Amino acid sequence: MSQLNVTLFPQLADNYVYILQCQETGEVALVDCPDAEPMFAKLEELNLAPSAIWLTHHHWDHINGTSDLVKRWPNLTVYAYEGDSHRIDKVTNWLKEGDKVRLGNCEAEVIFTPGHTLGHIAYHFADSNVLLCGDTMFAAGCGRVFEGTFPQMHESLQKLGALPPKTKVYCGHEYTASNVRFALSVDPNNEALQQFQSEVTTARANNQPTIPTTLALEWKVNPFLRVGNPAIQQAAKASGADISDPAAVFEAIRRQKDNF
Ligand code: FE
Ligand code: ZN
Repeated sequence: MSQLNVTLFPQLADNYVYILQCQETGEVALVDCPDAEPMFAKLEELNLAPSAIWLTHHHWDHINGTSDLVKRWPNLTVYAYEGDSHRIDKVTNWLKEGDKVRLGNCEAEVIFTPGHTLGHIAYHFADSNVLLCGDTMFAAGCGRVFEGTFPQMHESLQKLGALPPKTKVYCGHEYTASNVRFALSVDPNNEALQQFQSEVTTARANNQPTIPTTLALEWKVNPFLRVGNPAIQQAAKASGADISDPAAVFEAIRRQKDNF
């Protein structure tokens, strides 16, 4: 298997589009795109033309650029979760859990991660240790539970968390600074988290992305993943959660974040 290059491209206030390229064949795909116009300019600058767009979920800030991209490149392959056929346009290939998607000589596996939406998927390139996880996991955070249940979102995060620790995590938004502020409110004595906050502060002050993070780091700093940790359980207990149930710990912490 070939290795994958990932280029991050900020759009709107805090979205990230990812430009994937197979190192061997040069084939290019985008992951999500809210707005095609700036994408055209960026791809022109890089002298690249995409053969596909891989969508993570139906929210407008992830899919709205699709139809203009298809106008520009009529042969574009558009991938999305099969359960969202009623609400995502222009899709050519429907995906489900465990499907394999190829980009040149690179291959990703589709991981179904419902919770943020009921049709959310992530893409995992095992050979390149790259995870594209949309709005399921963020650096030191996770997406809001809009459509699914809290146990569903908890399960989705644990599923992603079970991938190899060296996995690089490319998420849909630059929310890290505010995520870290919340994480410290439930886990104030976590030295790895304090250290991460200073790195994030420096990066953002220099207008640098904090992405990718890694699963190894997330297991040290992400309160939504670390539901078995005593500090996180303590914080969940403060809002009345049954801490013997990991999904209940997750729910308590996620609700605290909603009101933070
Ligand atoms: Fe979203
Ligand atoms: Zn989003």
